[in-house]
Amino acid sequence: MDAPFRDKIALVTGASQGIGEAIALDLAAAGAGLALVDIQADKLQAVAARVKAAGSEASVHAADVSSSAEVNRVVEDILARWTRIDFLVNNAGITRDNLLLRMKEEDWDAVLAVNLKGTYNFCRAAVRSMVARRSGRIVNIASVVGVMGNTSQCNYAASKAGVIAFSKSLAREIASRGITVNCVAPGYIETAMTAKLPEAVRTAFLEAIPLGRFGRPEDVAAAVRFLLSDGASFITGQVIHLNGGMYT
Ligand code: NAP
Repeated sequence: MDAPFRDKIALVTGASQGIGEAIALDLAAAGAGLALVDIQADKLQAVAARVKAAGSEASVHAADVSSSAEVNRVVEDILARWTRIDFLVNNAGITRDNLLLRMKEEDWDAVLAVNLKGTYNFCRAAVRSMVARRSGRIVNIASVVGVMGNTSQCNYAASKAGVIAFSKSLAREIASRGITVNCVAPGYIETAMTAKLPEAVRTAFLEAIPLGRFGRPEDVAAAVRFLLSDGASFITGQVIHLNGGMYT
């Protein structure tokens, strides 16, 4: 089987389920070694077993992405285990939806801390070694909501808009070091995150998607794989939108 990433090491956060798991398995199938990060290590063991079944190797690392101390420790562990990080995929994310007038400060803080600060934490910790090697690829998972806005998601939308602006800025900062930084902005993807939405909301979303179906985690993984491939070497500071035509 073709394995274009045979010599590559990929760090994926939020890798124990949903989109992160699909990205990890897709990169494993393409030959990459995987450093799997999530807040709970036990869930990651099953993904590591699936990476091995796909013919690759995985290491498992528990960290809360919002904690710079935990992130720094985990990146040190990963560099000790693999010697380098070629690909960083910041995928871990949460929602705490509510109308603004009912949105508690702790729900604002939690979403910004995981989605935006988590992305900053991992980029800052991993970029140093990429700069030293003068190569690297970073893909940050944003959301259609970060460009479109969405009712009951002021916190989430702000965090994902922040991820996009952060990525465009970092792309400019480290392009001269041979590192690209891009975003994938999914629309409605069927995962645990969206399974908890009320049926009426799901139906309304489906009606708003011209392609007539919800996205799959594998759709997101394919876009990430493209941005990590040699064919994307001249692409940086960009956002790939993946929403079935819901927002153009
Ligand atoms: P998911 O099924 O909820 O998976 C997210 C993973 O991140 C979970 O394993 C979760 O662990 C982990 N995580 C949460 N907080 C963490 C933390 N502080 N530190 C480390 N790991 C943490 O979500 P998903 O649908 O796959 O979403 C993945 C990414 O895509 C997110 O950034 C999300 O915003 C984005 N996205 C999703 C959709 C969609 O429709 N699903 C659309 C646009 C963008 P626990 O379960 O243990 O908390």
